[in-house]
Amino acid sequence: MRFFGKNPKVKVMGISVSSPSNEELKKEAADYYARHKDEIAAKRKTAKESPKPKVSRGEETRSVTEKSLDEFRSLGIKRYKISTCGDERVCPNCKRHDGKDYNVKDAQTGKNAPPFCDECRCIILPVLPF
Ligand SMILES: [Zn+2]
Repeated sequence: MRFFGKNPKVKVMGISVSSPSNEELKKEAADYYARHKDEIAAKRKTAKESPKPKVSRGEETRSVTEKSLDEFRSLGIKRYKISTCGDERVCPNCKRHDGKDYNVKDAQTGKNAPPFCDECRCIILPVLPF
């Protein structure tokens, strides 16, 4: 945005600048928009299509699973078992994994360890050797 015009000088933060008229401002804005039309449209499109990144439930579950797996490894636990929340909000995808057990060393989040969906609340439990 340029602020040079025929208008009287005003002080902005101690610097003397020309005060633009409304018409000049409108023209500047229109020019700016015309010059950057595609860019602005692309930015708007991107903003619409990709909602603000936030940590999803699934990502939280992933970090919980990874912490649990680390703990199991340090405790020498060899197998883990998947447990859903067991309520009516458990999705079919998660339900499929409920109660299954796997080797800790083969654990892969998203495959045989939670999260199994974006809203995953499944947890893993240690399978104790007795
Ligand atoms: Zn789940």
